[in-house]
Amino acid sequence: MGGRDLRIETAMCKMWSTEMTWKIADDAMQVRGGRGYETAESLAARGDEPIAVERFLRDCRINTIFEGSSEIMRLFIAREALDPHLKVGGAIFNTQLPMSERAKAIFTSGKFYASWYPKQWLRGSAGDIKSLHADLHSHVNYAARTSKRLARGLFHAMARFGPKLDREQLLLSRFVGIATELFAISATCSFAQHKIDQGDPKEEVLSVATYFCRSARMRIDHHFAGVARNADRRGYDLTQELLAGEHESLRSGIV
Ligand SMILES: Cc1cc2nc3c(=O)[nH]c(=O)nc-3n(C[C@H](O)[C@H](O)[C@H](O)COP(=O)(O)OP(=O)(O)OC[C@H]3O[C@@H](n4cnc5c(N)ncnc54)[C@H](O)[C@@H]3O)c2cc1C
Repeated sequence: MGGRDLRIETAMCKMWSTEMTWKIADDAMQVRGGRGYETAESLAARGDEPIAVERFLRDCRINTIFEGSSEIMRLFIAREALDPHLKVGGAIFNTQLPMSERAKAIFTSGKFYASWYPKQWLRGSAGDIKSLHADLHSHVNYAARTSKRLARGLFHAMARFGPKLDREQLLLSRFVGIATELFAISATCSFAQHKIDQGDPKEEVLSVATYFCRSARMRIDHHFAGVARNADRRGYDLTQELLAGEHESLRSGIV
C-alpha cells in the first residue's frame, strides 16, 4: 500500500481479530447457555430458534491456528519490533561478546541511545489530531504516551536479557499484547472519525469507540502488570522438571 511496510500491522490484525472472535463466540455460547451448546438442528427439532452458536464456535477456533498461528504471529511481531534495536545496540547488551567489542558498540550506538532513551521519558505527542473529534483526543494521547512507556519497557528488558530476550516468549508476548492494543485504539479512533465524517450518528459512534478504548486500556494495564510480576520462571522450571520425568504423582492417572 503506497510502498509502506504493513507486515507488523497485518500480523497484529490477524492475531487480535482471530483471538477476539474466539472470545466473542465463547461469550455468545455462555450467554445462550444450554441453547448455545446445542446444534442448530437440535434446536429446530425442539421448535427453538436455530441459532448456530455451537457451529460458529467450532468453525472460528481454527483461525488462531492456521494462516500463521497466534504464537508465530507474536514471535514475528516481537522480532520485527526488536530487530532495529538489536542491530543498533545488541552488542552492548551481549555479555557473551568480548569486552573490547562491547566497548566499541557502546561508542558507536551509545550516541544513538543517548538521544533516543531520554526522549522516551518526554511527554508523548499524538501529532496533529485536530481533525479528530474532541472526545477521541484523550484516547490517541494515551496511545502516544503509552507507546513511550512500551519503548522504555522493551529497552529495559533488552538491557536485562540481552540477545536472550528473543527466547523470553511470555514476556515478549505481553509487550506484543500492549502494542497490539495501542494499534487497536488508534485504528478505532481513526475509524470512528471516518464513520462520523460519513454521517453516522455521532453519539452512537463515540460511545462505542470510548467503550472500546477504555476496555483496551484495561487489557494494557493487565499486560504491564504481568511484565512487572509474573510466574514465568516458576512455570518454565516446572515444565522442565516434568519433561525430565520428575513429579510422577502429578502425571499419573491424567489420561
Ligand atoms: C482445516 C485446516 C485447513 C488448513 N489449510 C491449509 C492450507 O490451505 N494450506 C496450508 O499450507 N496449510 C493449511 N493448514 C495447515 C495449517 O497452516 C497448520 O495447521 C498451521 O500452520 C499450524 O501448524 P501445525 O498444525 O503443524 O502445528 P505446529 O506447528 O506443530 O504447532 C502446534 C502449536 O505449537 C505452537 N508453536 C509452534 N511453533 C512455536 C514456537 N516456535 N513458539 C511457540 N509456539 C509455537 C503453534 O502456534 C501451535 O499452537 C490447514 C490446517 C487445518 C486444520
